[in-house]
Amino acid sequence: MNIAIIGAGPAGLAAAYDLTKANHRVTVYEAAPQVGGLAGGFKAPHWQWSLEKFYHHWFQSDRAVLGLIDELGWRDQVLFPRPYTVIHHKGQFHPFDDMFSNMPLFLLRHFPITDVIRFGLAGAYLRFSPWWQPLEKYTADEWTRRWFGDNVYNILWRPMLVGKFGEANLPVVNMAWLWARLHSRTTRLGTFVGGFQAFMDKLADVVRRQGGEIRLDGAINGIRQNPNGSFTVESASPESPFDAVISTSSPALMSKITPDLPADYSASLRALKSMGAVVLIITLDRPLTKFYWHNLPKEAGFPFLSLVEHTNYIGPENYGGDHIVYCGDYLEPGHEYFRLSKEELLERFLPALARFNPAFDRSWMKQSWLFKADYAQPVPPANHSRNIPSLRTPLKGLYFASMSQVYPWDRGTNFAVEIGRRVARMVMEDLKP
Ligand SMILES: Cc1cc2nc3c(=O)[nH]c(=O)nc-3n(C[C@H](O)[C@H](O)[C@H](O)COP(=O)(O)OP(=O)(O)OC[C@H]3O[C@@H](n4cnc5c(N)ncnc54)[C@H](O)[C@@H]3O)c2cc1C
Repeated sequence: MNIAIIGAGPAGLAAAYDLTKANHRVTVYEAAPQVGGLAGGFKAPHWQWSLEKFYHHWFQSDRAVLGLIDELGWRDQVLFPRPYTVIHHKGQFHPFDDMFSNMPLFLLRHFPITDVIRFGLAGAYLRFSPWWQPLEKYTADEWTRRWFGDNVYNILWRPMLVGKFGEANLPVVNMAWLWARLHSRTTRLGTFVGGFQAFMDKLADVVRRQGGEIRLDGAINGIRQNPNGSFTVESASPESPFDAVISTSSPALMSKITPDLPADYSASLRALKSMGAVVLIITLDRPLTKFYWHNLPKEAGFPFLSLVEHTNYIGPENYGGDHIVYCGDYLEPGHEYFRLSKEELLERFLPALARFNPAFDRSWMKQSWLFKADYAQPVPPANHSRNIPSLRTPLKGLYFASMSQVYPWDRGTNFAVEIGRRVARMVMEDLKP
């Protein structure tokens, strides 16, 4: 069978891996000049490792991606260091990477014992209950306020929800999303030797060795079904016929480039909400903090949601001695940060670094990079399970697999690999002679 895959992110490459392994003819079209999608990275000339454009790590519970890595025999190249996460409260940073040890101690110091008990009970329920379905009819905002109480809601859940989805989506995001985060995440965080880009490049090499073709700089601007049921994809020139097409683009783009899709399926794609992301990366000649991940409440007036000191996770020796800091935020697609230049964002962000280390001086900065993504974080509304567009589109032979169909789990490379392999299985089942 002749199959086109749109996108060489983790979902597209995982699908390509399984399909080429089963001896199908596969062409992967990737708009960018490199594979990796949102998990891709870049390398300054003096670095040994690549750096993710958007901070990335795996959890020990990420079975799909770690399973694929096992299958490929690369497990010795996965590292799981134990970096430290902190939460900002009243001008200070407090350890917060283990919900069941750090958090109760922090609460005991600041709040009545009843808050600690409520935190323990509600937290244990979310961590150990396997049932997310009953939770999806509530918003995370109402559920956490009700069961954790106002204090924990205000210092923990509200900042997290506002930071990730914005104030406007507080009445939208459902509680199953938060259940999934607490249920499955681990304190040890994983990466691949050489960075995520090294993993994605190796996976692309396997796809090529198995006979797949990957066309970089190959943006697809149209998918059309031919009268005989096969497909044509339109890039610089139309290419056909394909027996099947798997698209891993954003839902909005999928709806735009596939005019043959029935109106109701197309409308269900356009109805999916999502946030964009803006990340400024700064290299320094010395460390800024002792911690990896700093959660920042919007009310505290930081110009970004999280400060991630990457080299407190993966050492500076892998980056020519540079100390690397990400300043990142999830934002509505129309937010002004999407229009601002790197220099304009530096003007806004740099003064805030002194709040992490009062000695900080601009002269510490060596280089900077700015990355933006319109489609970065799906927003799951109440009862989202009823509205997820199916991977099999109504056009027989056309499949769509995106971050917005990963649920109730928060999107991530693990679930991209899972959905990519699932859609590849579907294609093979459907195309069986
Ligand atoms: C700020 C941020 C932090 C994150 N942190 C983590 C983390 O810590 N751990 C983790 O596991 N995951 C993390 N993720 C999520 C992870 O990056 C995604 O879940 C994953 O990359 C999704 O894979 P995908 O293949 O579905 O989509 P993508 O990675 O978006 O890949 C889709 C690819 O399709 C290409 N494409 C789209 N349209 C077309 C077209 N018309 N023609 C040709 N090519 C096209 C794109 O260029 C892209 O390369 C993070 C994401 C962001 C934005």
